[in-house]
Amino acid sequence: MDVEKVFHMTGGIGKTSYAQNSAFQKKASDTVKHITMETIQELYYEVTPKSLGIADLGCSSGPNSLSLIKDMVEAVEGTSHKIFHPMPEFRVYLNDLPTNDFNSVFKSLPDFYKDLKKDRNQEGPSIFIAGYPGSFYGRLFPCNCLHFIYSSYSLHWLSKVPPALYDEHGKSIKKGNVYISESSPPSVSQAYYKQFQEDFSLFLKSRSEELVTGGRMVLILLGRIGQDHVDRGNSFFWEILSRSLAISVSQAEIEKEKVDSYDVHFYAASRNELEDEVRREGSFEIDKLEMFEIEREVKNGESYGTAVAMTVRAVQESMLCDHFGDGIDLDSLFNNYGKMIDEEMVKVDIKPITFVMVLKKL
Ligand code: SAH
Repeated sequence: MDVEKVFHMTGGIGKTSYAQNSAFQKKASDTVKHITMETIQELYYEVTPKSLGIADLGCSSGPNSLSLIKDMVEAVEGTSHKIFHPMPEFRVYLNDLPTNDFNSVFKSLPDFYKDLKKDRNQEGPSIFIAGYPGSFYGRLFPCNCLHFIYSSYSLHWLSKVPPALYDEHGKSIKKGNVYISESSPPSVSQAYYKQFQEDFSLFLKSRSEELVTGGRMVLILLGRIGQDHVDRGNSFFWEILSRSLAISVSQAEIEKEKVDSYDVHFYAASRNELEDEVRREGSFEIDKLEMFEIEREVKNGESYGTAVAMTVRAVQESMLCDHFGDGIDLDSLFNNYGKMIDEEMVKVDIKPITFVMVLKKL
């Protein structure tokens, strides 16, 4: 499966869109917003560029990206007033994979600009926003053009399904599961870990060429607490997807062989694994690395399981449709998914683990 050509969050603004089902991701970035804002203010204070280059990597569609950009602009404005410095102009680069629904982000720009001018006597800051389609596992921007890089809930996605998940006959070594599971042989977690190392170090290397010295990155990503790959924090959500797919097989909606070859290109790294890669690559210093959990929240009477199912659907729909074709009944798949989550939640609470990492370019 060609991730770069297929993977995208469900576009538009409909019921199953990412725009309407990304409250969880918003909550995560809001939980550590103080860190993001302190970091950009510190950077601005130290460098005070006339033209400030900011990139959001994996911006997706929906309101999360621009809402954060607005907060960043206001944070920098606050600092520039405090130090009696004229406001910089802002260059904002929104990046995601090419099939992302950039248009729906662009459509919301007039309101975004209007909103920024509202409290400022129609004199808004100078902001130049552009879309940059492409994979962040490789160069995206010209040398030294960025001061601040932000990426939330994107870096746990690998560049591809690890090739080592398939033996020399092209057979999957992790049958029936879409990710590392209790029954996986160690070679499965090794395959994922190796892919993560390759990808994350390429990510760091590419960004190090694009960021000015002293530039900062705030990276928010899913991870795991300890060395164990199987936990109720993250791998559990994939286990439920494997179980839901098994139900679709039992109802003859999809073929078992097709499920064996469905793999998520996801990896939840541990603290040590992140630190090791930053150290090995050598271009950045770690300013902060904190772990946090996100409290559950449900909207108007909807069950938690339904909310999780809608979130996972908005994230996985493009890949599921590409792999299984039109035959797959996503309504019934995610209905089963939501029910299973609710059943499990009665037993033990499940809280995904997230890391926020602040890096400074040396
Ligand atoms: N930052 C947003 C979106 C998170 S969803 C928010 O917090 O709501 C993750 C996004 O990362 C998706 O839109 C996905 O397409 C993007 N993504 C995943 N891998 C990527 C890659 N290699 N290059 C660029 N974007 C990527």
